[in-house]
Amino acid sequence: MMTATPPGWWRRNRYRYILNLQNSITKVNPCQKYPIPRLILLVFLNIFITACVSDHRKPFAEQLTPQRDIFTYEKRLQAAVLSSRHLSMEKIGQIVYPGFQAPLWQISFRPEQPALYRVFINAAIHGNEPAGAECAIRMVEQLSNRPLLSANAAIDIIPIVNPWGWTHGVRFNRDGIDINRDFATFRSQESRIIRKTLQAKTYHVMLDLHEDPSADGFYLYQYGLADKAAGEKVVATVADQGYPIEQNANIAILKSHNGIIDAPMLGLWYLRLTGQLSIANHYRLNNSKYVFTVETPLRFLWEDRLKMQRTAVDGFIDYFTN
Ligand SMILES: [Zn+2]
Repeated sequence: MMTATPPGWWRRNRYRYILNLQNSITKVNPCQKYPIPRLILLVFLNIFITACVSDHRKPFAEQLTPQRDIFTYEKRLQAAVLSSRHLSMEKIGQIVYPGFQAPLWQISFRPEQPALYRVFINAAIHGNEPAGAECAIRMVEQLSNRPLLSANAAIDIIPIVNPWGWTHGVRFNRDGIDINRDFATFRSQESRIIRKTLQAKTYHVMLDLHEDPSADGFYLYQYGLADKAAGEKVVATVADQGYPIEQNANIAILKSHNGIIDAPMLGLWYLRLTGQLSIANHYRLNNSKYVFTVETPLRFLWEDRLKMQRTAVDGFIDYFTN
């Protein structure tokens, strides 16, 4: 008789289960039966175990010193939204930790005419990569002044996915979860709010804004996409402004080629299987065929990073809505 697996069973037991299986394979003499299939299975399990080691850490026990003020940011958003009938602001959830509370907002821009295209942008899922959140709020401020900037497109923006991390300058959420590896298991409040908000929604293009502490230049990710035309155009525009393009970004077995990391769909299915999907992976599997992650080098000057981010955002919107 089949018994139902309790929720979270696999997540809690996967390491032990895989290690036991691996031990049982290696314990027997490899020269016995089926050495080749056994070897292949062993290699596969090793890759699987490596992938299962997520980037999460222990919850933050201590109270960290805030580096940024979320309510100042909120006031700026409100001021921009109030001054334009094209903008609205919705609280899509409330993040609650001991001693810390903050809303998650979604800002929506709607043009004068019914929109032909739908665009989505999120930023600051990693709290120590702040340029995306500033790029997003400056974009909202600009849209409130000059709504004709995007006459064809409805734009939804979640400017800060990880408000606790953004406030404290930390990659993780308060529980030590890397939210950007949490879109298969949904352990974090933040990822669950995003999943619920975007459920059954589709977009022509979706952008996820990040920064990279070890990069020497600008680069981006695309996911399960047959051609690189959009990404190449954006990379070329950033390069035209005199910014370097990262040639050596690595993630797992993927490497950047002229500023583009081209992740295959097979990789996304593998990450789902191993419980490590990123927010952009989730979007690609559920909400849009055209999903890009933008990365700017954290060691560059603030205004230069903002300019690179904004060039990429404008470049993608332009490419997909004209
Ligand atoms: Zn990041």
